[in-house]
Amino acid sequence: MSSPLVEVLDDRLRGNRLLVKRDDLLDPEIPGNKSRKLKYQLLGAQASGITTLLTFGGAYSNHVRAVAAAGRRFGFDTIGVIRGEERPFNEGLAHAESAGMRLHYLDRATARDEWLYRAG
Ligand SMILES: *Cc1c(COP(=O)(O)O)cnc(C)c1O
Repeated sequence: MSSPLVEVLDDRLRGNRLLVKRDDLLDPEIPGNKSRKLKYQLLGAQASGITTLLTFGGAYSNHVRAVAAAGRRFGFDTIGVIRGEERPFNEGLAHAESAGMRLHYLDRATARDEWLYRAG
């Protein structure tokens, strides 16, 4: 995985060089640090024969969306547990669902009382 280094040209830099590593260009569906974060977890899951990925996130979670895309691409079933009082639905969650992710919703009180926020 390599992403381009792009130089920012701006007079306000007053002769200093500013290079930006564009990890956002790594992958259109699994952008930024998400592909770096998921790579070894997915390799580990594959090596262990795991077939389903379950993850948690808020209604606007880029992580949930990236896991859904990675699951579709690499052959895992995916489940996303979405934190929220209602059943939010937005573009990110629509993408996750269209990538085959099954969405479950958990309101904050239940999450706190049950197990999500139990101190580990
Ligand atoms: C993706 C990410 C977040 C945001 O998490 P979301 O579930 O996508 O809202 C925060 N911190 C880091 C380091 C991340 O990679």
